[in-house]
Amino acid sequence: MDVELGRGLQVPAVLTGFYEAKTLELRDGIGDYVKNVKSGPTYYAKNYSEILEILRNPLQNLLSLEARLRGSNSHIARRPRSDVREDGKWTIHRILARQAPGECDPYNITDKYFEFNRADRSEQLLHAIRDAVVVYIDWILSNQSYSWEIFTYVPDKRTTQPANKMGELFNLISTQIWQRAPYLACLNIFEWSDEVSSSTRRQPTAEERRKFVGSNLSLRHDVDVRGKNVIILDDQYTTGATADALIEQLRARGAQNVLFMALFHLVSPVNSSKLCPRCLANGLTKQLQVKIKRNDGSKFYSCVPPQYRGDGCGYTENIG
Ligand SMILES: [Zn+2]
Repeated sequence: MDVELGRGLQVPAVLTGFYEAKTLELRDGIGDYVKNVKSGPTYYAKNYSEILEILRNPLQNLLSLEARLRGSNSHIARRPRSDVREDGKWTIHRILARQAPGECDPYNITDKYFEFNRADRSEQLLHAIRDAVVVYIDWILSNQSYSWEIFTYVPDKRTTQPANKMGELFNLISTQIWQRAPYLACLNIFEWSDEVSSSTRRQPTAEERRKFVGSNLSLRHDVDVRGKNVIILDDQYTTGATADALIEQLRARGAQNVLFMALFHLVSPVNSSKLCPRCLANGLTKQLQVKIKRNDGSKFYSCVPPQYRGDGCGYTENIG
């Protein structure tokens, strides 16, 4: 009944699609997609028999990457947005794991997202991600009524650390795809402009993110995508702005169906029940949020200040 309550209690939550949810998440100008998906349920079920199936096989019904990280396999992905068909061309967004900020991350997926973004990330994690993506692509290739011709990814900027963060993963996946589906061309078709200095993450709204990606990351001129069906892989999905900007370019050059898949979907935070002591001393009650440091993965409480889109005082306290 309440996904956030389930996450707060650290128990798996099933989002049921028995009723159509019409509430949109417009809070920060970023997440203007269906609120119930952003609330971060562990499972999604359309009817009671699907709930029974989840209870019978909980691991096999997790999202693809979450299942892989728990030693199981699944080809389940979630749609952060509804599929759209325009002029006979499908636009499909899919995510393979939840990146759940806060204290309510029983599968530690958020830690994995941060590990993936560090230079000292483990081979074990890279292989788990590769396997999850391959399981999902295998399923896509075997279940769709149309074929896919190009598999590509959102490349790293020259300044990205660790260097070639996505490129290394893409090469691992391509090696496996090539053995299974040689007709699917694994190509790097996008490139960042040389001048790009900021990052997508720093752009505050979906519209600014879309513009940033649109003007800095472009489809290479020597690639022909006319009439082709294209799969794009990215590491994180927050607003879908990167997807929008890249799909717009692909369509302008004649691409057909596009599947944009991301490894980690940033879902809504569940606040800590701990209050900020500094704000409390000033007569204000502000809940602290659990955050993770990018450089070493350690956790801390934060009274999130405006520069990180919070309304707190900036107080921090290390955890553990
Ligand atoms: Zn505070």
